Amino acid sequence: MQTFENYTYERPDMPAEKEKFNALLNKFKEASSYKEATEAIEAINKRRNTLATMFNLVYIRASIDTNDAYYQKERDFFDEVSPEISEMATAFYKELVSSPYREELEDQWGSQLFQIADYQIKSFSPEVMNLLQEENKLSSSYSKLVASAEVEFQGGTYTLAQLGPFAEHKDRAVRKEAMNASAGFFSEHADKFDEIYDKLVKVRHEIAVKLGYKNFVELGYVRMQRIDYNAEMVDVFRKQVRDVIVPLASKLYKKQAERIGVDKLKFYDVNFDFKTGNATPKGSPEWIIENGKQMYKELSDETNEFFQFMLDRNLMDLEAKKGKEAGGYCTLIEDYQAPFIFANFNGTSGDIDVLTHEAGHAFQAYSSRNIGVPEYLFPTYESAEIHSMSMEFFTWPWMELFFKEDTEKYKYAHLASGLHFIPYGVAVDEFQHLVYENPEWTPDERKQAWKKLEETYLPHIDYDGNAYLEAGSYWQRQGHIYDVPFYYIDYTLAQICAFQFWKKSREDQEQAWEDYLHLCKLGGSKSFLGLVEAANLRSPFEQGTVEDTVAVIEEWLESVDDKAL
Ligand SMILES: [Zn+2]
Repeated sequence: MQTFENYTYERPDMPAEKEKFNALLNKFKEASSYKEATEAIEAINKRRNTLATMFNLVYIRASIDTNDAYYQKERDFFDEVSPEISEMATAFYKELVSSPYREELEDQWGSQLFQIADYQIKSFSPEVMNLLQEENKLSSSYSKLVASAEVEFQGGTYTLAQLGPFAEHKDRAVRKEAMNASAGFFSEHADKFDEIYDKLVKVRHEIAVKLGYKNFVELGYVRMQRIDYNAEMVDVFRKQVRDVIVPLASKLYKKQAERIGVDKLKFYDVNFDFKTGNATPKGSPEWIIENGKQMYKELSDETNEFFQFMLDRNLMDLEAKKGKEAGGYCTLIEDYQAPFIFANFNGTSGDIDVLTHEAGHAFQAYSSRNIGVPEYLFPTYESAEIHSMSMEFFTWPWMELFFKEDTEKYKYAHLASGLHFIPYGVAVDEFQHLVYENPEWTPDERKQAWKKLEETYLPHIDYDGNAYLEAGSYWQRQGHIYDVPFYYIDYTLAQICAFQFWKKSREDQEQAWEDYLHLCKLGGSKSFLGLVEAANLRSPFEQGTVEDTVAVIEEWLESVDDKAL
């Protein structure tokens, strides 16, 4: 059996690739029958998959070892040629949507592919190529600036990610020092963060106007492939959050303050859940993986097969090590039909979340790997997070394996943090609407807007005199705002769906699992609301969904004697 180390990478010869691609595209254009048209598409997709495979191998290997000069060079190569690859995709999409066989093709593959193609076409024109490159450069300069952080703390030097566990430290003074140190890095570079964002907003506005949109809000939705919902519907959702979740979150924060024994919760207390310390996994990374194996074996035949597949082929790189990039992700290596999970275990409950959340993404990719259309391998982001966040809940019955005596703590904090996240998530979303509706705003006006949003959505927040944060700058640490505009509401929509699976799985595990499995197998073959319906879930946009969903979560949290944990 071939393992990840033996998956072969070869740098694509781009001029030759383009030539072959164009020849196939011509075949598709000139197809004289439906059969010929589908054969051409299949050949085109095969080439696209191989290119994507090469890209993914480079991306994964470069992130596992940033000191590997060979793969760093290959990553630079892909950074350079990726606009050419998107140009090829767009050329293919243009032919696809105007194909004389469109009706038959839609019968075979569904309309989602054609919607995706349409949206891709609508978000690109050669006229904006330079501006897109400028946008990419600006967002890389943000990532580089954040990655460069070396924060002095307790006599050592830390990256921002390494400071993470200190935000959960039992000693309040340590938490405070760690959180102020990390805010200190952002504050030190505040002008730079302002400048990068200011330029990003302006260049995005220019791109939008050039493509014929009123402002970047519309284009942002097109880029995110929001096929069946719009800004007005998101607005209705945010209102439900304001009415239902914000008061509940405030109540929970109050309980937390009492539980951890402080008068008033400060920003450095928020991640500290229990006086006796947060829940932590009770063993080494190898032990965690062993237990993961048992968990997925017992959960279902499908997850057992999937997890064994990942283990046999070394498709998980989980331990933090020198030279490895920060963060976590899941991707799919197309030609091997192999999902890959990347993480940095750090001894917190986050390690178990990797094993459930990222594995949820990987399980979806594995379940739909034979779907036949590259566009359907992963759904759009808000749908993709349903798979991952719901897997976090489907695995609840096995949390004892990892957390032992801390299990109840873990479960309580897991549900509470899911709720707490939603108001923050919609604040990030509303912020971006305001910013792109007002592209002429100064950095200071943007901060004023954020401050007001904090008052609405996060009334509990207390920055304890930290001048940078009090000025309305917290959002500068949220990479999505810089890198992928309007990517954030996704997590909140998915959380509402995952909560519904939590409830169902407690009422009827078998039925809930069947719905979930069906959803995973559908991959990205439907739009968000199409997938929600197929999974027998209620749309988060529908009036009342948030209230009904959250009510059962609140009830469960209320039933726990949290002070005893
Ligand atoms: Zn995720």
